[in-house]
Amino acid sequence: MTHPHDRALPRAVRQAMPMARDVLVEVAKQHGVCIRPLALRRLDIVTGKTEIIDVPCGSTLDSKCPPCAKRNRQLRMAQCREGWHLDTEPAITPDEPNEEQRWLVEFRADMQAQRDAAAQAGDDTTDLDAVLAGLDEEINAAGMRGSVTGSAVPKRSRSTRRRQDAPDLPKRKMASTTLGRTFHAPDGKVYRPSLFVTLTLPSYGKVRNGVPIDPEAYDYRRAARDALHFSKLVDRFVQNLRRVAGYDVQYFASVEPQKRLAPHLHMAIRGTLPRAEIKQIAAATYHQVWWPQADEVRFDGDHLPVWDEQAGYLDPATGEVLPTWDEALDALDEDAEPLHVLRFGEQVDVQGVLAGTPDADQCVRYLSKYLTKSLGDALDGGQVQREHAARMVDALRYEPCSPACPNWLRYGVQPKNAKAGMAPGRCRSKAHKPEHLGYAGRRVLVSRKWSNKTLAEHKQDRRSWVLEALGQADEPADPHRYIWRPVSAGDANVPPLAVRLLRTVAERQRWRAHLRELEARGAGQDLSATEQTGRAA
Ligand SMILES: [Zn+2]
Ligand SMILES: [Zn+2]
Repeated sequence: MTHPHDRALPRAVRQAMPMARDVLVEVAKQHGVCIRPLALRRLDIVTGKTEIIDVPCGSTLDSKCPPCAKRNRQLRMAQCREGWHLDTEPAITPDEPNEEQRWLVEFRADMQAQRDAAAQAGDDTTDLDAVLAGLDEEINAAGMRGSVTGSAVPKRSRSTRRRQDAPDLPKRKMASTTLGRTFHAPDGKVYRPSLFVTLTLPSYGKVRNGVPIDPEAYDYRRAARDALHFSKLVDRFVQNLRRVAGYDVQYFASVEPQKRLAPHLHMAIRGTLPRAEIKQIAAATYHQVWWPQADEVRFDGDHLPVWDEQAGYLDPATGEVLPTWDEALDALDEDAEPLHVLRFGEQVDVQGVLAGTPDADQCVRYLSKYLTKSLGDALDGGQVQREHAARMVDALRYEPCSPACPNWLRYGVQPKNAKAGMAPGRCRSKAHKPEHLGYAGRRVLVSRKWSNKTLAEHKQDRRSWVLEALGQADEPADPHRYIWRPVSAGDANVPPLAVRLLRTVAERQRWRAHLRELEARGAGQDLSATEQTGRAA
């Protein structure tokens, strides 16, 4: 056996040997062990004992840690399955006679959750705040007094007065249910049909194998703006869907990249509507972006606005103060056109799916197929595709991604919350990055009453199952028992990462061996479930 420390070995041979550390990471991945665990110090206030605990890194679906990304995908699949064909209402708190208006409040709640998540992630929320303010107005217009949040959302004047016109669609009376219709066969069997809908964006020019035939003629600007505002269009679709359906439609959707690099949407919908109606809703749905103009370049190259502590950004030549974001919005007069209008493309796929059929299973798998990949990863990487992606990134470079985007300076407007050091083309928001290609929103969109469980609860389910099978007590329920503290870098009490990975792999192997043993004794668990659960715990 050759030994890598054998100096007599030619350098090339030594270098061809795999690094032990890389092998360890591979092994960890195979065992579903997080490869970037976060070490935390845990003080048990009952026993007074302090321990270093490894917490899996993985909370996001596009996590760079493959085992965590995979585990998240499995949890999402469980969540998707759980809610799709629900036959009893999930934890409903009936809001007495407000049925007609309830869906508005529900939608408001979904949006609030999105806003809070964005705020927590440190993202800019001005856009979502504007949506919330708009919804509050609609809620008032629907005859409800006050604001849902007790006016926590600052009211914008003009931009929100430009309400999106309601499209011309049939409107059914709202029933207070989140469940779809059932159909009873003469033999007494009950059918519970649901929908699987795929929505795409329109064409920006002819493509072959996902690449524009004529890049010059391909409308990259429109593609960029559509991607930037795609999530708003999806919100509008849901809003219209609920109006037309006449019940509190619940959905589980995932946003995925098409080969041509445009985002598209797969949506599992609980309950059913006529196919033609879904197509009608998709065709009638649009979203208007009421932002200042971003087509006429005012500052570019060396000719850029300069910062003044008192006044904000000034024209470098004239010293004139640029309009602030709010001023620019107020300046949009009654004849102003929206900066951009989004619509779906003509390609709308609607599939009826019955509970408990292989079709349903396949759709669930399909919904989560690309969740571990980012939008920009969809490419298989041919030269022409890379060039297409590069042109898309170029088009996104100077598009304003939000009211706070420094790119507004290029068009003569001070970004919202302007501060020193901003320059067009230097926005750090992920919308501009090649991995995201304009779509910086969440990849999985789940309505509030999809199932009774949150993702964290699904996680807990699986964990409890494994621990039960192993005959171990689950974590005590008392959340106040432990005090968690971060561990500073270079803390001598934290073993090197390699050692921690080895320990977790070993633990995982013990668990798995034990589960196999239980299985052999006929505990009745099928192997695939065991494997999955072992990974998920
Ligand atoms: Zn991880
Ligand atoms: Zn930006």
